[in-house]
Amino acid sequence: MILVFVDHSDEQIKKSSLEVLSYGAALAEKLGTSLEALILGTFSGNPGELGNYGVTKIYQAPDEKLNHLDAQVYIKVIAEAATKLGADIIIFSHTQTGKAIAPGVAARLKAGLVSGALALPDTSNGFVVKKNVFSGKAFAHVAITSPVKIISLNPNSFPIKAQGGAPATVETFAASEVAPKVKITAVNKVKGEVPLTEAEIVVSGGRGLKGPENWNLVEDLAHVLHAATACSRPVADSHWRPHHEHVGQTGIQIAPNLYIAIGISGAIQHLAGVNRSKTIVVINKDPEAPFFKAADYGIVGDAFEIVPKLTEAIKKLKQ
Ligand SMILES: Cc1cc2nc3c(=O)[nH]c(=O)nc-3n(C[C@H](O)[C@H](O)[C@H](O)COP(=O)(O)OP(=O)(O)OC[C@H]3O[C@@H](n4cnc5c(N)ncnc54)[C@H](O)[C@@H]3O)c2cc1C
Repeated sequence: MILVFVDHSDEQIKKSSLEVLSYGAALAEKLGTSLEALILGTFSGNPGELGNYGVTKIYQAPDEKLNHLDAQVYIKVIAEAATKLGADIIIFSHTQTGKAIAPGVAARLKAGLVSGALALPDTSNGFVVKKNVFSGKAFAHVAITSPVKIISLNPNSFPIKAQGGAPATVETFAASEVAPKVKITAVNKVKGEVPLTEAEIVVSGGRGLKGPENWNLVEDLAHVLHAATACSRPVADSHWRPHHEHVGQTGIQIAPNLYIAIGISGAIQHLAGVNRSKTIVVINKDPEAPFFKAADYGIVGDAFEIVPKLTEAIKKLKQ
């Protein structure tokens, strides 16, 4: 049986979890096995609707203490569920949450883990999973040989596929021990913005924008495109933008359909976080900027002239 960890926020199943369910369904069909899912915490939506993505049974642990991610607790509960339910393959999304828990679950279950998978495993001779290595510069094909296998799937690597299946049956999973060692006293959520990891389009700014007072250029373009905003590391380090917008090797890794980089040089550490984007557009006044080598489309020129014109043109087009 394949078990998928389903993550949710604000009573919505995350897009990355729908990708993982679609991936799990394709793998279950390939291996001739069943697909089940686990949801932690109270979720007032209807988990049965996930039957639409090929899952037949959902286990829900509706304990309020599981409403916020506590990696130690999640690892224990997921490992217990996987053992009790007899999961052979466990799949996570390679998001911040997945990165925090998949290795711990693998250690508890003595399971082989491939983190950041890009495609369905090749099962023609063993169980071989493709992933990126060296910050996206190469691919590795990793064989998992342990009885229990764990995969975390890179977001935006597998298309969401609704199958129109029957609703899944929902059962309660009662974890034997849920004892968080940390107490969450406050949660401050950024409201009204497109979350960076879920965004289809990302508009990103670098040091070429000179200062935080010029970020309206990035925000206005992002607004007309219904895009998330991001930035290079020095921008976050200088407190021009919050750290949760920093993308790159040491920041968030994203793979949107469209990444627009404005005034960013394209250092290798920045590219490590964005080079899986499907289309990259670079706006830079220096024709020798390294980012142009990674770009699908490039505009050489002053961002302060180009970006407002681009925003206006898109506005007109949308009207
Ligand atoms: C261990 C390590 C980890 C790192 N991790 C990260 C990371 O995760 N993410 C990250 O981003 N960086 C990371 N860095 C830093 C990285 O090496 C670069 O220094 C950084 O990405 C540069 O940011 P930038 O492109 O915004 O600034 P700059 O390199 O200063 O580039 C600014 C660009 O703006 C252009 N420009 C200037 N004015 C204009 C204008 N008016 N119009 C258009 N273009 C203009 C310039 O031509 C230039 O190309 C890391 C570095 C190290 C050593």
